[in-house]
Amino acid sequence: CGIVGYLGNREAYPIIIEGLKRLEYRGYDSAGVAIYDGSSLKVSKTKGKVADLEQRVESEISSNGNLGIGHTRWATHGVPNDINSHPHTSNSGNLVIIHNGIIENYESLKKELISRGYTFESDTDTEVLVNLIEDVKLKEQVKLGKAVQIALNQVIGAYAIAVFDKTQSDEIVIARLGSPLAIGVGENEFFIASDASPFLEYTKNAIYLEDEEMAIIRLNKDVKIRKIKDDSLVDPYIQELQI
Ligand code: GLU
Repeated sequence: CGIVGYLGNREAYPIIIEGLKRLEYRGYDSAGVAIYDGSSLKVSKTKGKVADLEQRVESEISSNGNLGIGHTRWATHGVPNDINSHPHTSNSGNLVIIHNGIIENYESLKKELISRGYTFESDTDTEVLVNLIEDVKLKEQVKLGKAVQIALNQVIGAYAIAVFDKTQSDEIVIARLGSPLAIGVGENEFFIASDASPFLEYTKNAIYLEDEEMAIIRLNKDVKIRKIKDDSLVDPYIQELQI
């Protein structure tokens, strides 16, 4: 139910965990983080509170990293437990996703993916989406952003997602339909969150994604915003928050 992400030169984990605490008011039953340090991907997740996650991370995540995403889950598909908690990774282990919302046609998509050899650990609709993105990426030989766009055009439902590919770790792709998402634009660093509260102390410059938009956020590049349906480019509107 809450999304936080970081891409830049700072250590991602403290920003994400503090951000998740600020989003606790949204309500949730589980929490998790994925941190990538350029060589290994660490995913830690648990049923329970962000404080429980912090305890778990102490034993599970030893390395630091400058790329990360974090999530608080309000279960819709699959009971609240550790395995169903987000982030979810794709079968190759390269793609990592967090998701708020519901993929309504996940059952038919899942059947199709299983028939193509995909396996699933969790009962979530989200794990179906990350593997759908992977399948598209491999089949169509496209970059992550394009794969996300093609996959989302096969999806019925509502979402805010953040996904990254550890083979292209200067980039996070996000998309929104029915759940809020904001991008904090710093000096050579980016923050992602369900609302601006997790990044206000770092930057006042924010882009709010509109419904049916996706953004490709890459270090040393401008944020590229596109309409998911027709691929048209949208001029990013960076507003200065007054709080
Ligand atoms: N449908 C997803 C799940 O059940 C996401 C729920 C949420 O919005 O947190 O895992």
